[in-house]
Amino acid sequence: MSPDRVPTPRSLPGVRPDIARMEPYEPVVPFEVLSRQLGRAPHEIIKLNANENPYGPSPRVVEALSRFPWYHIYPDPQQTELREALAGYVGVPADHILPGHGADELLDLLCRIFLMPGDRVVNCPPTFGMYAFDALLSGGQVVNVPRDDDFRLTVTGIESAVLDSDPPPKLLFLTSPNNPDGSLVPRPVLRRLLQLPVIVVVDEAYIEFAEDTPTVASWVPDTPNLIVLRTFSKWAGLAGLRLGYGIFPLHIIEHLWKFKQPYNVNVAATVAGLASLADLALLQQRIEAIKEERRRLFAALRDIPYLQPLPSQANFILCRVHGRSALGLHRTLAERGILVRYYDKPGLRNTIRISVGRPQDTDSLVTVLRELVT
Ligand SMILES: *Cc1c(COP(=O)(O)O)cnc(C)c1O
Repeated sequence: MSPDRVPTPRSLPGVRPDIARMEPYEPVVPFEVLSRQLGRAPHEIIKLNANENPYGPSPRVVEALSRFPWYHIYPDPQQTELREALAGYVGVPADHILPGHGADELLDLLCRIFLMPGDRVVNCPPTFGMYAFDALLSGGQVVNVPRDDDFRLTVTGIESAVLDSDPPPKLLFLTSPNNPDGSLVPRPVLRRLLQLPVIVVVDEAYIEFAEDTPTVASWVPDTPNLIVLRTFSKWAGLAGLRLGYGIFPLHIIEHLWKFKQPYNVNVAATVAGLASLADLALLQQRIEAIKEERRRLFAALRDIPYLQPLPSQANFILCRVHGRSALGLHRTLAERGILVRYYDKPGLRNTIRISVGRPQDTDSLVTVLRELVT
């Protein structure tokens, strides 16, 4: 029988009302589509809008992926080999480590194991958008404690949000270095916040680019309320393959093991992660190149009269735009084949965020920025 002869029921069940009310996600324009819109081949576009690694993955990753013989076999749900390699890299025993389909998946899992509808999380905007997004998806409520004008956390505000809210929040999201400004959470601040009766999630997606690698991952085994999230997307150039991991206290990771999809991390991501960890010398050189380029880009941006760059410990630089529209600047750059991220919202009025690229990317960008000086 053809489907058009099936009688349609009068009414159908609806999705959860909170999901029905959600605003649709603003889709990222796919790179090929953008390349057509701009009339430029993909390699002629300088993509400085998503903090991706301009050098791509290690050549050993490409080689390992092309040689891997077992794509038809399901992955190891325990990710034993990858977790052992990560334990060596992070310096924390493997039983504290859980890989995920990007750090994004782990944020979602955390919200789902902690939040019942109406439960609260503390978020410190301007920051990465996925904390609020995932909390809302789980039916949670977001208590925003905005940063000050210099993007510093308002510690007393966070303390009262945790101690004075009823019901008390369960999760506090911190980002170090923070996206979009690149500032670190100072250690004394973190020590103070860890004394609060809340689970503190420190997102270290960009920690490899920070000077002196001030990771707090090694604190996790002795700190029952600290979770650290990491990713291969930025430092290892694997954003498209989706591989992240978290370092968790044992009393939390035991629940994630029950809850995660068995095959959440695919074999290609695992092979790529292992090959990256086996090529740290090369990847570290690239990290150093990006840090060096960050210094050069910062100095060049500081000399552009209408831009005010903020010091950053990550692979991007946020700039306040003065005396002209950041949106206009974003569009002019896009017409010239240079993509940057633009914001105009509370705490991020008239700003652009520029990912650190290769030296030639900085040169092209700065040439256009200088031409626009009036
Ligand atoms: C890019 C980014 C992530 C995403 O990590 P994936 O592993 O690619 O999901 C997480 N946190 C922050 C702050 C980021 O900027």
